Amino acid sequence: MVAKDESPFNCESCTNKDRDVRNCNNGKGLTEAARAVDSYSDVIVAELKDKSANKVFRLGDIRLYECPLSYINVESVEVIRLVSLADGSSTLLLAGGWAAQPTWFVEAYELYKTEFYKEVKGSENEHGNR
Ligand SMILES: [Zn+2]
Repeated sequence: MVAKDESPFNCESCTNKDRDVRNCNNGKGLTEAARAVDSYSDVIVAELKDKSANKVFRLGDIRLYECPLSYINVESVEVIRLVSLADGSSTLLLAGGWAAQPTWFVEAYELYKTEFYKEVKGSENEHGNR
């Protein structure tokens, strides 16, 4: 379990091999446009190939080429706070069930759960892709 005041979003739990493959903390030095890609341009494709970056995570239409744990930065803290509050209290952001939630919230929640269970269950390579 994650300690109460400790963010589950840090790369301390990523293995050394993961840190390279998952580009934790953007160690490969990708540009902003290449860290999270929603549409591929020739420039981005070339950069990803050049820096041998792998797609790490898919969040809706966005493909992350950086570990989602380190990609989530200070600006995302509010999102994480909302998600973990919702999770901890079993209450959703808006009334009306999952269909009524904003897409960003559903996606953030999925990401949170995926990473959380990966941590709990140890090394599991499978993501529940849709
Ligand atoms: Zn990481």
